[in-house]
Amino acid sequence: MVAPLLEIEDLQVHFETRRGIARAVNQVDLTLYAGERFGLVGESGSGKTTLILALLRMIKKPGFIAGGKALMEGIDLLQLDQEQVRQTRLARVAMIPQGAMNSLNPVLRIGEQLALAMREHGQPPQEGRIAELLQQVGLRTEVSQRYPHELSGGMKQRVCIAQAISLRPRLILADEPTSALDVVVQRQIMQTLRALQEGLGATVLLVGHDMGLMAQFAQRLGIMYGGKLVEVGTVEQIFRSPQHPYTQLLIASIPSFDRKGEFRGIPGVGLSLLNPPGGCLFHPRCPKAMPRCASQEPQLREVAPQQQASCLLYEEARG
Ligand code: SF4
Repeated sequence: MVAPLLEIEDLQVHFETRRGIARAVNQVDLTLYAGERFGLVGESGSGKTTLILALLRMIKKPGFIAGGKALMEGIDLLQLDQEQVRQTRLARVAMIPQGAMNSLNPVLRIGEQLALAMREHGQPPQEGRIAELLQQVGLRTEVSQRYPHELSGGMKQRVCIAQAISLRPRLILADEPTSALDVVVQRQIMQTLRALQEGLGATVLLVGHDMGLMAQFAQRLGIMYGGKLVEVGTVEQIFRSPQHPYTQLLIASIPSFDRKGEFRGIPGVGLSLLNPPGGCLFHPRCPKAMPRCASQEPQLREVAPQQQASCLLYEEARG
């Protein structure tokens, strides 16, 4: 049995606005296991990026962590003081950002910025380490002498991956790391990330909405809707037998050769976090909604071995 690496319990991230509180991450429970590749999927505004920013304590005002725990090997990441957060980032939990260009320092050579990050953590790179890191991500060692503007988008993303693995973290959070790249480069980068993850034995939490990419990379998937985790299962379960109506529509909306020319969307519009519906958040759009869905809130519960869904179809009527 693989041990849990990260146990997220009742995580809540809110944003205070003039029109009220927006619950961007709403009572999320999720366990990630050591060495697994987990994909977190959802439409824009579903809370997936906010969730990983909370783990790194990067939520900025007017946002705040309103409650919950994130236990990593027994230590609550949400209770660390500022110095502990600084020590934890990169060394234990690293992030591969969405926009590589914005996260690299434009006036430092690549080798200098990789070394700087390691020095900041009291682990100055030993001779040959920078070259080794660049080679691990498929770059030539001479890239260490270049500035970010001299690299292509794919090369910059590889530098970000090199930085993320430089201190051999246990958990890597990847926020749509290839969304700005063409499909060929995208595939190569995900293969590199997978090889590195397996070599390190690290856990990767990949956030995105590209279901094809998720199917190739992840072993388990979590589906988010309106800040809530509505389904968790293995990749095979989510693609072959999704249980939550939202997941079913999401899978049905993936273009297929069999249904050429026909696009299937999810009915209705995304919910307003400032004015969410009562009961199940998905009920105004759900083709399987029942009268009690408008008033009763479903809980995430086991619907098959290793598969959980939050839907009243799997709950007895209460009261
Ligand atoms: S609880 Fe009701 S509205 Fe929500 S997903 Fe299930 S059937 Fe649909």
